Amino acid sequence: MSKELNKILNRQSAKMIFFGREYDVLFNTKLLKVKENGTTAWAEAQPAFKRIVFAEDIPDDFIFSTLIHEIIETINWSFDMGLDHCKITTLETSICAILMDNKLIK
Ligand SMILES: [Zn+2]
Repeated sequence: MSKELNKILNRQSAKMIFFGREYDVLFNTKLLKVKENGTTAWAEAQPAFKRIVFAEDIPDDFIFSTLIHEIIETINWSFDMGLDHCKITTLETSICAILMDNKLIK
């Protein structure tokens, strides 16, 4: 597992590169559950600020899938793809299921 992924899974600040740009991955104590479209979410991609902010109290089991979700959100924003949150969640769930079913992740 990469050093940066390991940091994220252990709720530590990390760096990610999106299309040559460095993003900060943060665990924010102030945001217990960040809002997304009026619903609670465990994280929020803020590509305009080059960061992904996780709620500090996100359950361990949700960190990886939420990271995948926010990666897709960032791609969606970067390429103006117009995917809604529902479609992004379907992509997140599908990608995570395929990675797990093929034992590419634990
Ligand atoms: Zn979303």
